[in-house]
Amino acid sequence: MGVRNNRRRRSGSLDEFRRRPYHRRRRRRDILPAIKISVMLAVTAVLLFFSGRALFRLIWGERTPETTAAAGMHFGDSENGGLNLAHDSMVAAAENIRNSFPTEPAEGDKEGEGKQGVLVVVDPGHGGYDNGSNIDGIYEQEITLEIAFCLVDKLQEMGYETLILREDNDTHLFPEERVEMAEKADADIFVSIHLNTYDGQEKVSGMETWYCEKNPGGEELAGMVQKAASKAAGARDRGLKISKDLIVIRDTTMPSCLVEAGFLTDKAEREALMTKEYQEKIAGGIAQGIDDFIRSRKEGLPE
Ligand SMILES: [Zn+2]
Repeated sequence: MGVRNNRRRRSGSLDEFRRRPYHRRRRRRDILPAIKISVMLAVTAVLLFFSGRALFRLIWGERTPETTAAAGMHFGDSENGGLNLAHDSMVAAAENIRNSFPTEPAEGDKEGEGKQGVLVVVDPGHGGYDNGSNIDGIYEQEITLEIAFCLVDKLQEMGYETLILREDNDTHLFPEERVEMAEKADADIFVSIHLNTYDGQEKVSGMETWYCEKNPGGEELAGMVQKAASKAAGARDRGLKISKDLIVIRDTTMPSCLVEAGFLTDKAEREALMTKEYQEKIAGGIAQGIDDFIRSRKEGLPE
């Protein structure tokens, strides 16, 4: 402040302005200490920041398993990996964070832990320029997305990890891209959601689930999903269907199935499918079927 005030007083004098060389020289000399102090402060701030950050990492740990998983990295692969003390305290801190969140269901710790590591890929059928079926301005791609959102919520409530392949109606994905996304994510379960149409004369409605014989676990998964979902929705159970051509259930290596949740061509079912209430019922049933499948698998495994 002193420096500034001095300068003010000086620049206020007309005389000083006329003797320019002298004036400029004085100004330089006045400002030099201020520059020195600023540089020193900046260096101190940078040093404090880095030492503080290192201390924070050492005590608390920078990453949790959740954030590293999201970033596609493996826990422990940080730049602190070589420092065992830092790594151990990071693991301990991560465990504390994990335990402080009540994400695990009440049924028991063992079960909750099992689910937490299970990744379910939810594939809302169609999207982008591919609307799917369109009956009276009701687009398949919009309803499959709504059911998929409900399914993600239900699965997360149960303690599962989820990956939804599209989150809006503008995104188009080829079947091969959907398979690739699931494979890259190393998913444990793949469920695709679609809606049916029928252009014959009879009244056709209800739910059916498709699987591919080539897909390991697909038939069991499809069976449990179909049973639970048709029951939860109160829909006609049309049973299981086998496909050799549906790419998403043929080329995925994890157990996969494709749910045809109802017929857009049936007026009553179409109107029900448009309601949040019915979408929730279907999603709840699919989630239940997936859970039944995971439990059946875990029961067969050694403790
Ligand atoms: Zn479809």
